[in-house]
Amino acid sequence: MATKLMIKSDWCKGCGYCVKACPRDALSLGRETNLAGYNYVVCDHEKCIQCGMCYTACPDYVFTIEEEGGAK
Ligand code: SF4
Ligand code: SF4
Repeated sequence: MATKLMIKSDWCKGCGYCVKACPRDALSLGRETNLAGYNYVVCDHEKCIQCGMCYTACPDYVFTIEEEGGAK
């Protein structure tokens, strides 16, 4: 079953820790703001290898890696 990195955009504070931690340059801060008013992080899923470094780096639990097509 394929997995995909999921981003809870509304929890992101735009600190950029995950952007620096990503070994594939898959993450960047977007131009749009979330409900809290922060520019939130977006992922280029073509580049992401689901290594989990962003999950480890984020202090706000924004990332999860989930099975595509919903939880089992
Ligand atoms: S899982 Fe790894 S490759 Fe994918 S965005 Fe996070 S740090 Fe980058
Ligand atoms: S580390 Fe977490 S809070 Fe900081 S920019 Fe990345 S996703 Fe947002």
